[in-house]
Amino acid sequence: MIEKITSSQQAMDLEEKYGAHNYHPLPVVLAKGKGAKVWDVEGKEYFDFLSAYSAVNQGHCHPAIIKAMTDQANRLTLSSRAFFNDALGVWEKYVTEYFGYDKVLPMNSGAEADETGLKLARRWGVVKKGIPNDKVKIVCCEGNFHGRTITIITMSNDPESYANYGPMTPGFIRIPYNDPAALEKVLDEQGDEIAGFLLEPIQGEAGVYVPDDGYLKKCYDICKKHNVLFMADEVQCGIARTGKMLACDHEGVRPDILILGKALGGGVVPVSAVLADDDIMLNIKPGEHGSTFGGNPIAARVSIAALQVIKDEHLMENADRLGKIFREEIGKIKSPMIEKVRGKGLLNAVIIKPKDGKEAWDVCLKMRDLGLLAKPTHQHIIRFAPPLVITEAELREAIEIIKKAIASFE
Ligand SMILES: *Cc1c(COP(=O)(O)O)cnc(C)c1O
Repeated sequence: MIEKITSSQQAMDLEEKYGAHNYHPLPVVLAKGKGAKVWDVEGKEYFDFLSAYSAVNQGHCHPAIIKAMTDQANRLTLSSRAFFNDALGVWEKYVTEYFGYDKVLPMNSGAEADETGLKLARRWGVVKKGIPNDKVKIVCCEGNFHGRTITIITMSNDPESYANYGPMTPGFIRIPYNDPAALEKVLDEQGDEIAGFLLEPIQGEAGVYVPDDGYLKKCYDICKKHNVLFMADEVQCGIARTGKMLACDHEGVRPDILILGKALGGGVVPVSAVLADDDIMLNIKPGEHGSTFGGNPIAARVSIAALQVIKDEHLMENADRLGKIFREEIGKIKSPMIEKVRGKGLLNAVIIKPKDGKEAWDVCLKMRDLGLLAKPTHQHIIRFAPPLVITEAELREAIEIIKKAIASFE
């Protein structure tokens, strides 16, 4: 029997009974979305301040993106890469010109794109740099989040991610984040066997951890000195989120391997990608990597529309301008519960100091009651990342909700 949902509780009960328990959602059941807003089953309206972890930068159900999807869905949905389709090449040209690389390799999820980036770097290390195949290493950072595959959780130092999943993948070295000297040291010592350095230009899941100005450029220069690829995971911080197209653009750094996902599909279908130039990308030959759904015609058309919206609606400029207002206004709130506000563009976090046993989770529940959805990351940090189409008036309304929620704990 197919259930008909008539209440939020009913939907939550179904997930509890029949779904794996690998998430702990805020208790709210969404049924509709438009722009920066979403509605629950009962019709209550909320500002969405998570944007599906920055996958919905273009706003919910953007008409241009939905049109691209439905037009294509009515013609051809999937060809597989066994045959060509008439959308993929159009997207490949568009996206490589958009980001300025020779080639792009399409995948679906962010984790897959990160895995692809790792394979590309390892392959380049073996084939071009001459590292013995069983010796090739990748450097990653403490506090990273690159997804959920076995290889990717190998890089994590968060026990929630890696504990009790059995043996891990060899070939990774983890160094402190925001510490160029640590990178210099490991490359001095083992640079001959290191193919790439993978980092998030801003660590989203870690709690919107913004490194010091100059960090990215320093790391890039150190990598160049040691013939190591600089690999940026911009799955969350890329695509206008931080007020520039890429977070690396803040320091004028062009990654050797650029990893994108989330907003690349406009929150409509999963689209991820790795971009690189020919000397890196062409080391993987036909048959040596792939994905059944990667580069499917719906993904291609949707992604073009999603990237076009970013430019047409000036979402970089909006993120930059509104982000400043957000940090300024939240910074003015006088409350012992607000320890710090940090971020770039519209990727921000507020660090909550628990008061009378009330934590970030309680603040999120209160904000939900008042009509704003956000979620804690790491217990005491709340990330605030609305769709980039949010208007200044909407943002100011949302800020009032946050103020009210915090004040309710006084
Ligand atoms: C979300 C995220 C990923 C993983 O993306 P999925 O689509 O969930 O696999 C990888 N890297 C970063 C920085 C992310 O924020």
